[in-house]
This record gives sequence, C-alpha cells and structure tokens, in this order.
Amino acid sequence: MIKEQIQELSAKIFNEVVGNRRHLHANPELSFHELQTSVFVANKLEELGLEYHKMADTGLVALIKGEKPSDAGNVVALRADMDALPILEANDVPYKSQNPGVMHACGHDVHTSSLLGTAKILTELKSQFAGTVKLIFQPAEEKLPGGASIMIKEGVLENPKPAAVLGQHVMPLIDAGKVGFRAGKYMASTDELYVTVKGKGGHGAQPQQNIDPVIITAHILTALQQVVSRFADPKSPSVLSFGKVIANGATNVIPNEVYLEGTFRTMDEKWREEAHKRMKKMAEGIAESMGGSCDFNIMRGYPFLINEEKLTHATRGHAEDYLGKENVLDLDIWMAAEDFAYYSQAADSCFYRLGTRNEARGITSSVHTPTFDIEEDAFKVSTGLMAYLAVKQLGN
Ligand SMILES: [Zn+2]
Ligand SMILES: [Zn+2]
Repeated sequence: MIKEQIQELSAKIFNEVVGNRRHLHANPELSFHELQTSVFVANKLEELGLEYHKMADTGLVALIKGEKPSDAGNVVALRADMDALPILEANDVPYKSQNPGVMHACGHDVHTSSLLGTAKILTELKSQFAGTVKLIFQPAEEKLPGGASIMIKEGVLENPKPAAVLGQHVMPLIDAGKVGFRAGKYMASTDELYVTVKGKGGHGAQPQQNIDPVIITAHILTALQQVVSRFADPKSPSVLSFGKVIANGATNVIPNEVYLEGTFRTMDEKWREEAHKRMKKMAEGIAESMGGSCDFNIMRGYPFLINEEKLTHATRGHAEDYLGKENVLDLDIWMAAEDFAYYSQAADSCFYRLGTRNEARGITSSVHTPTFDIEEDAFKVSTGLMAYLAVKQLGN
C-alpha cells in the first residue's frame, strides 16, 4: 500500500529534513535575493537525480514522473516559498540565523525543506504511481509583486499544465501533528495605501490664516471607515487600517501636510475595485471641501486566495485518510494575504495549514515575530502528507 510506504519513508528521512530546515533557518535570505537558498535546493534536486530549471531568477521547477502506465497524463503542482523576513531573530537556538537582521520568521524554511523531503519520498516511489508531480520552489512571497506572479508570467503553470496546485503553510495556532483546511475563500486581497493630505501650515494660534491638514486628516480617517461599514456587503469581509499617521508639526505649529499609510483587505475583486474608487473620491472630496487637497495612492497587492471547493474537499478527505480524522481541522477565514493566491486565481488550488505549535515547549509565537519557531515534529506529518496528497490527486 502506497500510504504505508510513504509513512515509512517519511519516518526514515525525518532527521535529514530537520537538518535541511536548520541549515535554511540559519542561512535566511530576503525576498528576491534567495541565491544560496536556490543553490541549496538545486544541489538537493541533483542528489535526487531530478532535472530542474530556474525561473524568476532564484526559483526552481522540477518534475517527478511516475512510472506506472497511465493514459490520463495527470499533473499536480506542489509549491514551497523560500524567502525570509527583515527581522532580527531573538531565539537562542543552535540553528539561529547567522544573517543578523534576516530571519525565517514565516516558516518558509519549513516549506522548502518539507518539499525537498516530499520530493525524496516521491522519487523513491516513482515506480508506484502514475502521473507527474511538478515541484515549485518559489522566491519572494513576502514582497510585492510576489514571486508567484512572476513565475506564473514566466509559465510555471504551463508545459505541463497542472490540474491542481497544492501548498502548505506553517500555523502556530495548530498543534504539531495536525493540519487545517478551508474550502472556498480563505485569505484576503491586500492593497497598500499611501496618502498625503495637503494644507497650509503656520502658527497654531492663527488657524484662520492656515489650512489645517491635521483636522482634514481626522475627518478623512473617520469617513473612510464608512466605506467599510456602509458600502461593503456585510456578507463579504473588508478591513481598512491606517497604521502610520505623521503630522510632524508641534504644539504651536500647524504642518503643511500629513502623511498616512494603511492597508485595505477584502475577498471580492469587484468590490475591491469599487472600494478603491470610493476611498479615493471620499478622501479627495473631504480635503477639497476643507480647502486642502489629497494625493491618494493605492499600491495593489495580492488577490484573495480561494481554495477550490471540490479539490479542497477531496484533499481534506485524503488528509483524514493519512493522519486520522482527529488530526484534520477546519480553518476560519484569515485576513492576511499570501501570494499563493495567484496560483489559486489561475488554477484549481488548495492551500492548507501545517500545525507547528507545542505549548509545553513554549513554541507558540506568531509568524513574523522575532521569537517565531516551530515544533519540528511537524515534519513527521508534512513531507509524507504532501506526497500522499499528490499521488491521490494524480488518481492513484
Ligand atoms: Zn509571511
Ligand atoms: Zn509565509
């Protein structure tokens, strides 16, 4: 039985996968600069006898062809991201980042080492399955425009075209040993807002001679929330947050302008476009009515991530089969963004979460924090599960 064979191989390679993860964790590289990481992955693929080609500069794509005869020509793609974040690691562990100020704080070291493990399992078992597995090692998930969008433009979803794309991401809210799924809309689109509110500065004692951009900004910030509360469909989530507001005057100085940065997130492309127009119009209108002006700039980020219903239900079922029902959980929607969304907009996709929490060992920190770490027992699940999901998706 292929399930048992995968489980056996997964246990056999566990130490090696942990070693690879620790190497990657100690040597993190920022988005679009994954040079050594790319070489590391290339060497591992070569060790497995897999041919690869480069995409998006540091990305790699390789195929594992099952040797069982089949007319179907099925292809499934498995994706791992490889980049780290500009964070100074605070963990005191033997595999601590050796690149100060750069840290694998989103678990992409885990995704990459896990996919290498999955590749090893599938390579050893290629006589046991039919169909083709496409391995995608992707750069720059953390930085716009996102490595996924570049790889798709360069043709990663063509020749051969996968019928499904699977991806996994660490989740410190779920115990190691478990995984989580959600069918349908799962993660949000994200757009960055850069706004300058312009007035006319002067002495704080003479407001009548100035145009106060601080007061204009106060109105804009309050009014923009109405876009979310009055214009958005309550059935579809929207979030608008401004985390940066710089006026830079003084107790008695009204500044010339106020600078704002914020984020807008939702799960509906049509509404996303409409919201952009409404926010811009509202902010400009308010500024103008108060004698000032407003430059409202929107930098488009990733689209929303949708897990194709049929594929996700089937994949969830295979995960239950591999791990047991009790180890497969349902996920809630999550308003963060992820460039896997690009695959999900282009092909039937399923993005699931890998539990990495171990409360007893104090491993609970959120991703993108300096104390993020994982319970490495998660690798007892991740490599074999993805191999199993792939062979099942290929119809074996
Ligand atoms: Zn991240
Ligand atoms: Zn991530």
